Amino acid sequence: MFFSKSFIPILKNNPTEAKIKSHQLMLRTGMIKQSSAGIYSWLPLGFRVMKKIEQIVREEQNKVGVQEILMPTIQSSEIWKESGRYDDYGEEMLRIKDRQNREMLYGPTNEELITEIFRSSVKSYKSLPQLLYHIQWKFRDELRPRFGIMRCREFYMKDAYSFDISDDEALFSYNKFFLAYLNTFKRLDLSAIPMAADTGPIGGNLSHEFIILADTGESRIYTDKRIFDVDSSRTTIDKDSLTHLRNNFEKFYSVTDEKFNKDKFEKNVPEEHRLNTKGIEVGHIFYFGDKYSKPMKASVDFNGKKEFVKMGSYGIGVSRLVGAIIEAKYDNKNEIMKWPISVSPYDCSILPITNKNDNSSLEKALNIYKTLKKNNLDILIDDTEENLSSKMKKFNLLGIPYQIIIGNNFNENKIEFKEINNDTKYISLNEIIKIIKNKKVH
Ligand code: ATP
Ligand code: MG
Repeated sequence: MFFSKSFIPILKNNPTEAKIKSHQLMLRTGMIKQSSAGIYSWLPLGFRVMKKIEQIVREEQNKVGVQEILMPTIQSSEIWKESGRYDDYGEEMLRIKDRQNREMLYGPTNEELITEIFRSSVKSYKSLPQLLYHIQWKFRDELRPRFGIMRCREFYMKDAYSFDISDDEALFSYNKFFLAYLNTFKRLDLSAIPMAADTGPIGGNLSHEFIILADTGESRIYTDKRIFDVDSSRTTIDKDSLTHLRNNFEKFYSVTDEKFNKDKFEKNVPEEHRLNTKGIEVGHIFYFGDKYSKPMKASVDFNGKKEFVKMGSYGIGVSRLVGAIIEAKYDNKNEIMKWPISVSPYDCSILPITNKNDNSSLEKALNIYKTLKKNNLDILIDDTEENLSSKMKKFNLLGIPYQIIIGNNFNENKIEFKEINNDTKYISLNEIIKIIKNKKVH
């Protein structure tokens, strides 16, 4: 992509209405644009990041055997009356009437709709487990939308649902998601800790929030630092291995403030390992048994008897993750953003010196651009007439992790190549390609 033709409306200064870094940077670099309170348009730069996150989320769901579907954003009130949540959900639910005066709503979550889909088709326990997910916009009329897309009203969420015949099987499903979440956040280069959490309006009794540490987070957390060292890399998708993984995490006291108990914290965590800080909730998993299947009569045939299925639900805030990654990766001291390459809007930028009378740097840059494109790398080339130092400043803000700089002393065996926040190297184009590709597969 050529910068001159791109739609990346960069602002000169940080917008004053934004209180936290991710909100400032997303507005400043033209990733998003507010359209009304808590509702945003996603412009190319932001959209590319969100789509890359979405794809990683999707791949990790698929890997543990969850099937993708797509449910609508607009739902009928009927099923919510069956579950009893039509009244319980309160003002956060956006209620709409259609031309026939039917009560509709913009889905804040999908437990009811998926239960309706399940009960109309699945009749026998032999079809279980069923694990289904979709990635779809949600609407919650939050009392105080704030921090840009971190707490907004319309947001993009992956939500998955599991259906099983028994508690034991349902826990197996729960643990598959537990692992899928750890793997997802790892690929996003985030360290997300699973914390025992309250179940809130979803209901039920077993729940974990996945939290990344950040001063600007809205969740207060109390944890044993040793939880950061738990290794999930050798876990396989079988009951024993997954139970072992959960146990390894649950050995360490780790809760959000709703579950916090001072005595337990001090008794279970030696002082030197205690951490009381703030974090951002990026995922939340719940096990709630027959909370919805019972009132909505979702049952299967099991040895001649009807059994209500045991359900869980599993959310990831795909759009919130864009902001959360910025909060985690932004270098405040040097005012530099560096996207993990797995979600970066582009893999590498090319910054040539440009001036009116001499095209030579731009031509060299175009040749390099073509070679990198042939190697399937996503490249943003700054072909504008800005001077090199302001180009570099701008690209430090955009956060594309690698830069190729083409100045007056260009030498094709010693191309100026810089990884954001690292030293400059002078190497050949082949070596550059090798470095970027190598980073992309890890
Ligand atoms: P929170 O405690 O932050 O309000 P929640 O418990 O209401 O979140 P869930 O119902 O568990 O959220 O939704 C799953 C995920 O969706 C959350 O972990 C979060 O990442 C994301 N999410 C929830 N509400 C919002 C929102 N208003 N704006 C952006 N993302 C959200
Ligand atoms: Mg929550």
